[in-house]
Amino acid sequence: MQNIEKNKDWLADFGLTHPLLIAGPCSAETEEQVLEVAHKLKDSTATILRAGIWKPRTRPGNFEGVGAIGLKWLQRAKEETGLLTATEVANPYHVELALKHDVDVLWIGARTTVSPFVVQEIAQAMKGIDKIVLVKNPINPDLALWEGALERLYTQDIMKLGVIHRGFSSYGENTYRNNPEWQIPIDFKSNFPNVPMLIDPSHIAGNREKIAYLCQKALDLNYDGMMIETHPNPDKAWSDADQQITPEALIELMRSLRVRTSDVGKQASADTLHKLRTKIDIVDDELVALLGKRMKIAEEIGVWKKENNVSILQEERWRKVLERMLELGEINEMSETFMLRLYKAIHQESINHQNKIINK
Ligand code: PEP
Ligand code: MN
Repeated sequence: MQNIEKNKDWLADFGLTHPLLIAGPCSAETEEQVLEVAHKLKDSTATILRAGIWKPRTRPGNFEGVGAIGLKWLQRAKEETGLLTATEVANPYHVELALKHDVDVLWIGARTTVSPFVVQEIAQAMKGIDKIVLVKNPINPDLALWEGALERLYTQDIMKLGVIHRGFSSYGENTYRNNPEWQIPIDFKSNFPNVPMLIDPSHIAGNREKIAYLCQKALDLNYDGMMIETHPNPDKAWSDADQQITPEALIELMRSLRVRTSDVGKQASADTLHKLRTKIDIVDDELVALLGKRMKIAEEIGVWKKENNVSILQEERWRKVLERMLELGEINEMSETFMLRLYKAIHQESINHQNKIINK
């Protein structure tokens, strides 16, 4: 692995007493929208105004961005408000145009980070620039791909690097639009401790409700800041309408977060305990979500049993499940007594769920 130790401490240069906040719409839509949101953000702790100019859509036919004209709106917003500007670049042409329009922060999107060819092209187009470049995690949960993108940029003498954790896609219905997979950013942070880590709770959640929870979790894990999609009229947004919040809601959200000051007087051991507890909380979240998933599948089996007039308890099947789990328990160093208790409880809950279905 390459060393990124000469990465500049660009975050410290801002001299902030709060986490770095990048806010603004998913997409720049009109000049009025960009200016309105920028002026409203002046009342917040935001330092940087974001707006997508070219939108990488998974399916064609969705709004694909206003294109270069939007860069002029960002320029005007900066002049009028003093906010720095940020946009996504996905090829050398985007880089050239963004630089021409004095964009301060360029970010590489999740769909771009997956491609070493494209990242290499972009990195070469950026060679030696003195801008902040942020790299979103790749769509797929692959730490090496994320780190590789950083290394490609660093090799081209880009020294103001940072990363954005925006979650990872997975198939089927999930609690999140993009699963956080917290272990990946945690591993990234321990491999590259001098690369600032921001969270993008908007793209992880896919809705407004979970944004506050995700921001707090990130702060508890010592993230350096956040990028949050903010729109003057979220319901009417041309892209990602479900997950955007108003500038007013953003200000409220920032007030509600507990920022742990890195008090030097505080014992390092207390900090370690806090980090470990946060890790436990994350695992617990995942455990309960998985159990919920298991119950849903049990319910589907319930439907099948009802249609086929089969009794709920299938002794043979239950015996096999238990046998397999006791074996797995042993491999994972958990006692037989514990595994028995755990699985009997899970099994009972599944039966309760199926009973409800069958007796409906
Ligand atoms: C965005 O920030 O609007 C965006 C497209 O994000 P991502 O690359 O994380 O999907
Ligand atoms: Mn978006």
